[in-house]
Amino acid sequence: MTAQTDLRSTMAPAAALPSLVGMTRARLGDALRAIDVPEREIRMRVGQLWQWIYFHGARDFAAMLNIGKPLRARLTEHYSLSRPQVVAEQVSSDGTRKWLIRLDPVDAKDRGAEVECVYIPESDRGTLCVSSQVGCTLTCTFCHTGTQKLVRNLTAEEIAVQVVVARDMLGDFPGLTPPTNGLIPSGEGVRAVSNIVFMGMGEPLYNFDNVTDAISVLTDGEGLSLSKRRVTVSTSGVVPQIGPLGEATGTALAISLHAVRDDLRNTLVPLNKKYPIKDLLDACRNYPGLSNARRITFEYVMLKGVNDSRAEAKELVRLLKGIPAKINLIPFNPWPGTKYECSDWDTIEQFSDIVFNAGYASPVRTPRGRDILAACGQLKSETEKLRARARMMESHDESHPESK
Ligand code: SAH
Ligand code: SF4
Repeated sequence: MTAQTDLRSTMAPAAALPSLVGMTRARLGDALRAIDVPEREIRMRVGQLWQWIYFHGARDFAAMLNIGKPLRARLTEHYSLSRPQVVAEQVSSDGTRKWLIRLDPVDAKDRGAEVECVYIPESDRGTLCVSSQVGCTLTCTFCHTGTQKLVRNLTAEEIAVQVVVARDMLGDFPGLTPPTNGLIPSGEGVRAVSNIVFMGMGEPLYNFDNVTDAISVLTDGEGLSLSKRRVTVSTSGVVPQIGPLGEATGTALAISLHAVRDDLRNTLVPLNKKYPIKDLLDACRNYPGLSNARRITFEYVMLKGVNDSRAEAKELVRLLKGIPAKINLIPFNPWPGTKYECSDWDTIEQFSDIVFNAGYASPVRTPRGRDILAACGQLKSETEKLRARARMMESHDESHPESK
């Protein structure tokens, strides 16, 4: 059984004042300068705001009692602590949650974009899959996101705020109560959101500056305090940005490999024509901090009759020789109109055995949240369905103002 809740009526409308939530320390400093906070106070005030926003999850400047009343008043006059609207929540039978987030318009022409964010609870961790772009400019043939027309980079704030929204929704800030419908990991020192994967919509390394700024917000030890090792950036292979990502963030890396020959990878992941497998693997070998304790994850989507033969499993093992690696086999998640099918279970097992016998852990990623189309690569169709639904509801609302 799955549940879908339309949350539009229960959430406040987007505030007109710019929100401080999601900002880096540097941006917060600029925001304070803009309301004439003296330079000598900036560092301290940023530290105070930081704790309130990211550690406590504050929604109101009035709560910030260590900030004097006059400054609180100025903050209230010029800024807000609003989050983008969560327009729908879906809870899967396996506890996976998907939130549809409507971003505030970035300029007068922007009609408001939406991104999806997926939460996957397990007994010892909670993983949040975040988006880095609306849609994606790359056109991997098996990925639904790649077929979406509307594309733009998310700002650093829009990326970081997804984690704040998740913590709001999961009651994962001090003083909030976790929801009771579904599995949320808890216990001594266990946070509902403990891991982040950049595996939602978009190619994170095509939005490098905003992604690295957002990661600096997520991993700052005085706020959201996520461990760098528990943040994973997944890329389809933007070779020149792989080294710089490691330098700038120290996060874990995942590579969407999906094929062992350039001719096939050129079709599945067209970016391969620009950065072929050899260059990609060289960049991986040089990833800063790489060791057996900090391996690169290679993702491999299992496509029936396309990339799933025994010979390809053996070639995969050969290619990755010498790179500290984990191999993650992902059953293909079909979407309406796709020409691909997921490999048979026996074939996946056979492939996995070859990889395992070569000494790699080869977990097959259990599809999570399939019933709510929250699995990898599916983050498009449902958005569009929900859009249509939302439009219907809006026209209903307009004709029935009392129903708001
Ligand atoms: N753009 C980045 C991150 C987002 S995609 C990247 O490509 O790595 C996250 C993962 O989901 C990638 O490994 C991607 O190849 C995989 N994926 C995309 N569509 C899929 C589908 N329909 N079924 C299974 N995995 C898919
Ligand atoms: Fe973009 Fe990743 Fe999908 Fe390829 S797999 S189209 S890079 S989101």
